[in-house]
Amino acid sequence: MTQLADLATPYFPTWCPGCGNFTIWAAFKNACVQKGWDSTNSVLVAGIGCHGHLVNYTKLTAFEGLHGRALPVATGIKLANHRLNVFVFTGDGDSLAEGGNHFMHACRRNHDIKIILHDNAIYGLTTGQASPRTPHGFKTKSTPDGNPDDPVSPLTIALAAGATFVARGFSGDIPQLTELFIKASEHRGIALLDILQPCVTFNKDYSHAFYRENAYYLGQDYDATNKGEALKRSLEWGPKQIALGVLYQVNQPSYESQIPQIAQKPLIKNSPVHNNLEDLFKKYI
Ligand code: SF4
Repeated sequence: MTQLADLATPYFPTWCPGCGNFTIWAAFKNACVQKGWDSTNSVLVAGIGCHGHLVNYTKLTAFEGLHGRALPVATGIKLANHRLNVFVFTGDGDSLAEGGNHFMHACRRNHDIKIILHDNAIYGLTTGQASPRTPHGFKTKSTPDGNPDDPVSPLTIALAAGATFVARGFSGDIPQLTELFIKASEHRGIALLDILQPCVTFNKDYSHAFYRENAYYLGQDYDATNKGEALKRSLEWGPKQIALGVLYQVNQPSYESQIPQIAQKPLIKNSPVHNNLEDLFKKYI
């Protein structure tokens, strides 16, 4: 049994007061307690950004990677020990700009890892430059005359690349977000959980009030196996048009389930092919 106290570290968050990262962190810890996630069964990987500090405040095995490179680390961990729950905490700049290629290929390969995307539509850690999610016309330090680019939808990219679980949550709704963390974790294959997260300091447009006004939850009658409908909703953005919940979910073999070398036991339990590294160095270096 995991208790909240088990997840505490000596570090107090340095996030700005009111930042959506606080409630994402709270919802994730709730899910840890409900599902018994601890360092014996789970590992966190983070990229670079304000979101990445979450691994310092949560006492679980974790690795904070280079900018945009959390996914390759996570896929390596999953291949080495596929019995672990692997959660990747990333931002929209981290995963959709520099890490965009890794994002697309992780979705395509259906790795059994969970991508938690802190989607604040800005580069927060570097004090407010336009990210791939920043709206057209939005004035930032890097776009003082207004952003000339259109934003991308991470949901659409994931769907187009072949992701088998695509969901969107809102950091302002901790109970629903906790549930989405659990649903994503229970899916066998890649899961994208895009979380709308207000950056209260550098993006005043996408505020808590904006999302409360314009986001809605998909109803009971929504068919999450209908990819065409999921694509349509993923592209919608505007007044009362921002869908929350599981947009798409289908069962397909994960990457790891198709690798014969790890069918019986994790890779780390296998004997090394080469015991003598000296010979390898001589051969290849
Ligand atoms: Fe949160 Fe934005 Fe502050 Fe970063 S800069 S901690 S994202 S409010």
